[in-house]
Formats: sequence, C-alpha cells, structure tokens
Amino acid sequence: MPNGGPDNCGTCGFNRRNLGIWRNPLPAEGQPPFCEIRGVFVIADHWTYCQKWHTPSREPVGPLYASGIYDAGYHRIPWHGSVEPEEIGPGNCAECHRPFADGLQIPMVEGAPLQFCSNLHYLEWWKREHPGESAPMSAGILAS
Ligand code: SF4
Ligand SMILES: [Zn+2]
Repeated sequence: MPNGGPDNCGTCGFNRRNLGIWRNPLPAEGQPPFCEIRGVFVIADHWTYCQKWHTPSREPVGPLYASGIYDAGYHRIPWHGSVEPEEIGPGNCAECHRPFADGLQIPMVEGAPLQFCSNLHYLEWWKREHPGESAPMSAGILAS
C-alpha cells in the first residue's frame, strides 16, 4: 500500500474497477482505473485521492489530489481542474523564479508547462487560480 495513504482511488468503491466495494480484494483487473462519479481516468490510482472516499453519496466534493513531491513526508496537492500535476526533474519555478533540481509542472494547453519548485509554491499558485475553492487535504502544506 502506498505511504501516501490507504484512502486512495485504488481502494475506493467509486473506482469502476472496484465494483462499488471499498478495499475490494478482487478488483476487475481488466478495467482501467476510472472514477464513476467524476467521469475521469485516475491512472495513478494508488497515488490519487479525494474527499469522497470517505462518504457514500455520489456527489463529487472538492478537487482530485495527486501525491506531491516527497518533502519530509507525503503531501496531497490538488489537480488543476482535470489536469494532474506531474513530478519533473530540473526546472524554474513560476512562483519564486528560482531554478530547482526536482519539482512539479502543470501542462498548459497553449504554451510551455508551468513549473514549481515545491508543493507550497504550486499550492499558492493553485489558490489564486481557483478562488472560492478549497483544498482541505493540502492543509498540512500551508501549515508546515
Ligand atoms: S476520485 Fe474520489 S470518488 Fe473517485 S475513485 Fe478517487 S477517491 Fe473515489
Ligand atoms: Zn518556488
């Protein structure tokens, strides 16, 4: 089980592979990981999360989360809508404009991907991009 937490899409009953059974010991191996209530593929399902794992209603709540950069532990960072943040090697941070050896990026439809040196700087950008939304599963990043 990933150390990012057992409450991931891989064990969620809303993942089509799991046939409505949380922690299904016999998932449908032929099915790609797909969230039935959000209508999205969650390819890295054991490293993808959302608040809905914990509640049975089918109304999506809050963003999807990826596992961010390992930084004194695992942290969850929100997707940018339907776009999943990716871990990358060297780059330049769009927030602090410093070069980094390991970081994150968000692919952009037009233009170069946006890169970030840390979970915190990605999250600060995300909060400006998503006014009125919250990412409670990322609260530990802002507190650290
Ligand atoms: S996105 Fe949320 S509801 Fe959908 S499979 Fe993953 S944890 Fe379950
Ligand atoms: Zn930065």
